[in-house]
Amino acid sequence: MRKQIAAANWKMNLTYQQGEKLLDEILHEKIALKQDQQVVFAVPFPYLIMAKSAVANEQNYFIAAQNCHHKKSGAYTGEIAAEMLHSIGIPFCVIGHSERREYFNESNQELAEKLNLLLEQEIQPIFCCGEPLSVREAGEQNQYVEVQLKESLFYLEASQLKKVVIAYEPIWAIGTGKTASSDQAQEMHAHIRQVLSKQYGADVANEISILYGGSVKAANAVDIFSQPDVDGGLVGGASLVAAEFTAIIKALK
Ligand code: 13P
Repeated sequence: MRKQIAAANWKMNLTYQQGEKLLDEILHEKIALKQDQQVVFAVPFPYLIMAKSAVANEQNYFIAAQNCHHKKSGAYTGEIAAEMLHSIGIPFCVIGHSERREYFNESNQELAEKLNLLLEQEIQPIFCCGEPLSVREAGEQNQYVEVQLKESLFYLEASQLKKVVIAYEPIWAIGTGKTASSDQAQEMHAHIRQVLSKQYGADVANEISILYGGSVKAANAVDIFSQPDVDGGLVGGASLVAAEFTAIIKALK
């Protein structure tokens, strides 16, 4: 059965102390998760070990890095390798966030390399995709996302693909307060599953968690998560507020 996931993406926010307090407040709620539900906190690199020990005794709560480098190791000052994340026991890593694609020119090709390195290290990638506003306005979002999936994922074996979590984040909905409607989210998630199904078969496609990201908050999470092909969310702004994120966790189906 595929997992339902509430993933927090703190981005470049919060001090160490604020992060520690936020985790403490959320975990204090003791939200019991069902076997197929997971909560993931994608925190800044310097907080990974602190966050990992905060969730150490919690069932189905995990920590993610927000990025890794596309080379295995070497002279890349300031970068973090997948192997380093593995060596401190980090089970998830976000890659291909639209902010990385836009501000750091990450290509689908580079993301394919990152996927490979993460899977080699048995870290589950949370692979982000999603179209900019101009593509949505031209009605070409389905083809756009399909190319992102094909160029980064389609060389993977089915057994590897099953470990990938996909996050659909329409760029026009990120941090804008403008959410995709639950129908728009469902339509794209069904399309993504269809694209995966064509390549890998329906059994594999049905096992992949596809998260929605873009202005998810307590007030819209139930509506969005209730869609059949939406398996939870990747949450930015609202994940920085304990009451918001706990409500989002409770909205998982
Ligand atoms: P917001 O929830 O702030 O729109 O951010 C979404 C996002 O980019 C999560 O990765």
